[in-house]
Amino acid sequence: MDTTKNKNWTLESSPAKLEEILPGGVVKCHLSPRNCVIQEGKVGFCKVRGNRGGRLVTLNYGKGVHSTEETIETEAVFHFAPGERILSLGNIGCMLNCGYCHNWKTSQAKYVTDKDVYYYTPEQVVETALKHGIRVISWTYNDPVVWHEFILDTAKLAKEAGLINLYKSAFFISEEAIDELLPVIDIFSISLKSISPEYYRKVTTGWVEPVLAGIKKVYDAGKYVEVSTLMVTDISDDEETARKISQWVLDELGPNVPLHFVRFHPDYKMSNSIRTPVDRLLKARDVARSMGVEHVYLGNVNDVEGTNTRCNHCNALLVTRYGLNAEIIGLDSKGCCSECGHDAHFKLLGEHQANAPVELREEALSAYEKRKFEWHGDIVSLHAQVLNTEDFEQTVYLRRNYTDGHNSDWKSLTLRPHESYRFIIAKARIDETGPEVWLPNGVNSNLHEVFDRAHFPTESIEEIGISQNDITPTVGYGGKQNMYEQVIKLVNQA
Ligand code: SF4
Repeated sequence: MDTTKNKNWTLESSPAKLEEILPGGVVKCHLSPRNCVIQEGKVGFCKVRGNRGGRLVTLNYGKGVHSTEETIETEAVFHFAPGERILSLGNIGCMLNCGYCHNWKTSQAKYVTDKDVYYYTPEQVVETALKHGIRVISWTYNDPVVWHEFILDTAKLAKEAGLINLYKSAFFISEEAIDELLPVIDIFSISLKSISPEYYRKVTTGWVEPVLAGIKKVYDAGKYVEVSTLMVTDISDDEETARKISQWVLDELGPNVPLHFVRFHPDYKMSNSIRTPVDRLLKARDVARSMGVEHVYLGNVNDVEGTNTRCNHCNALLVTRYGLNAEIIGLDSKGCCSECGHDAHFKLLGEHQANAPVELREEALSAYEKRKFEWHGDIVSLHAQVLNTEDFEQTVYLRRNYTDGHNSDWKSLTLRPHESYRFIIAKARIDETGPEVWLPNGVNSNLHEVFDRAHFPTESIEEIGISQNDITPTVGYGGKQNMYEQVIKLVNQA
């Protein structure tokens, strides 16, 4: 596939912030620690900020992937409003180039073609969230850092409308940029890849020091923070990594900050490897807990106790989680254990009725088309994208199938005339076999297999079929994939 064609999205640009004008028509960008110095007509490392006429511009203002309704757990946020529905937005480009990136088709701008790009105004984003009863907007996927101007404009508007802004990022960002985010972002979920400077340089192309300083800065500013670390098989899934990350969290943040050890899947330049063995994740969790980190979780795993929350005082079950779903079992309205009153460090938003079950008999849907999907291997979540082609409102229905032949309650989704909407469906019980989506005439659909948390699949099943390999995306990276061996050598030499 020639990915250099169809790049109309790069033609229009907007003025960028954090610009320094240098002599000779050159500009310097102060958005990320790279501080790219950019000549006329060129772009920086991220390929979405450039020099046009001697001024710094952004090429991706208002341009991103399709917005997607998900749950807050998708963003490695476990102690803020468990189970809350969020509106996730990703853009194009990245200030890093991690060898295992599972969003490389959008984070690396050269692979982005016009078919994957959607255009937004700040008003449209806020209106979509409000219309669907969503209270949190999440800036996520590729990385929000390189969408700075659009996020500032939209998050301000969202805040004025009473919405909450969540920033899920690798946080390779300048101090000046953080200062601009602080007034509008409420939640920071930061992916700290490692504590090792060598690892950062080799695997991410960035450097660790500004990431650590940035996390501390937002925490000290009183923002809500959770930290997650991807445990890459045989590279960063060892006890020493868990110990160093835990020690940093304890020293610089505090024992109450939730810490997530996240399972890796083979992808991008590290496709020739295997998923992180779960026992290593469990070991990392034991290490962190034994050191005093109070809330430690596993990511990208189902069926283990390590995703639930128990009271650290009386061991009562407080929140149960399965995959990307959560249910509050034993918390009071202040986020404390309802058995013993111990502070479990939860922030709750209060009861929310949106997307409640609906009463419906299957016979009422006789004119509908049923689309059924079966979970397989490690594919336990799905993006469904639906488009109402009619001039009137239409309703889509959804339910889940179980191994014993029973089904869940129905849920519904109402689409405005000509509205395109995307939402995640994640396996919610061990005995669930898959979902059914029921579509009225005039509503088109695409399904996309999701490989792990915060993955935005660009290709649909209709385009590339169902994956035969359950742990690695069907559309693989065509370039060199030997980074895994290179990094293993580096780790063994250290
Ligand atoms: S955001 Fe970072 S990578 Fe992109 S142009 Fe600015 S300094 Fe360079």
